[in-house]
Amino acid sequence: MQMGNIVEILEKDRFSKDEIVKLLQVEGDDRSLLFSKAQEMKLLKVGRKVYFRGLIEFSNVCSKDCYYCGIRNSNTNVHRFCLSDEEILNAAQFAHQQNYGSVVLQSGETTSTAFTARIENLIHEIKKQSNNQLGITLSLGEQTEETYQRWFNAGAHRYLLRIESSNEELYRKIHPADHSFQSRLNCLKTLQKIGFQTGTGVMVGLPFQTLEILADDLLFMQQINVDMVGMGPYIEHTETPLYQFRSELWPIEKRFDMTLKMIAILRLMMKDINIAAATALQAIDPMGREKAVKIGANIIMPNITPGTYRNDYALYQNKPCVDEEPEQCAGCLDARIALADGDIGYGEWGDSKHFLERKNKPL
Ligand code: SAM
Ligand code: SF4
Repeated sequence: MQMGNIVEILEKDRFSKDEIVKLLQVEGDDRSLLFSKAQEMKLLKVGRKVYFRGLIEFSNVCSKDCYYCGIRNSNTNVHRFCLSDEEILNAAQFAHQQNYGSVVLQSGETTSTAFTARIENLIHEIKKQSNNQLGITLSLGEQTEETYQRWFNAGAHRYLLRIESSNEELYRKIHPADHSFQSRLNCLKTLQKIGFQTGTGVMVGLPFQTLEILADDLLFMQQINVDMVGMGPYIEHTETPLYQFRSELWPIEKRFDMTLKMIAILRLMMKDINIAAATALQAIDPMGREKAVKIGANIIMPNITPGTYRNDYALYQNKPCVDEEPEQCAGCLDARIALADGDIGYGEWGDSKHFLERKNKPL
């Protein structure tokens, strides 16, 4: 197929799969052009503001066994922890005092009536102690519709559930047989039906992943019409089954660069969604998140988990800032965002414009 050059592709309103594959391969001036177009689009559609979500990784207890993840159930070399309600509420209080606007409650996957009730109660408490001011995003894996509904009713209004890969075959290669692609997809649809601002995403640079699969990932996000996306580079962990394929991986710099390209292309495809600058970018390059903000991302999730627990939430090796306390992170972020040509939307929820538009449109 004869395809136009990069300038012509970038003029288009919708990209075909082949065009996305071509954009994922840009280098030199074409790469700079892609990034400057994405930057322009971001400023035009969502503006300069970067919104903070204070990330509370409150437990690494997980019933699942994803082949890439350091806290998978079968990794017996993990010190398992779970923050108390008081510790979680203190962390949320800290986010409120810092004027972060929102918190994200994230953990390994647990499904039980006790867990559902505990999270429901925590949502109520966070809302109460912040006078309804803190927005709440959840990232607690696959749950039943009833559980999602209870958490939504309690006041959580965003949910992050990465599809990890939209290619079912690749999904099967990176998960055990009882982790179902279809169930994950159904969860995303349920979250949308309930009314959550729904976020998904993929890891970039997984073994067996191709540029065609990455292009399909972006088309998948567009097709299911998500409101938020978080994409980060895959970083190997020695104590996971995928580690055996490390020699087949792209060099880490390429995984980093490809993630930036994915973000930039997605900004051009889904102009008004919220795109997070993933922490995994910072694990590779200390300025990784800021680079992502510059070319399309508008959400940062500063880690506000108490420092003593951070080492134990090791999804991959070299996770950044594991030795810091939340107070130390707060100071350095303002300067960093300014470097990325952004302003921080302090005290604002920074909801996805895409979601707000979608909600106001008749079906
Ligand atoms: N358990 C929940 C879930 O899986 O949706 C939420 C927590 S899970 C640790 C959050 C995300 O971490 C996953 O969606 C996955 O994309 C990412 N992750 C896990 N292992 C990773 C790795 N080795 N490199 C990069 N990201 C990883
Ligand atoms: Fe558990 Fe999430 Fe890690 Fe999978 S990615 S093992 S569900 S924490």
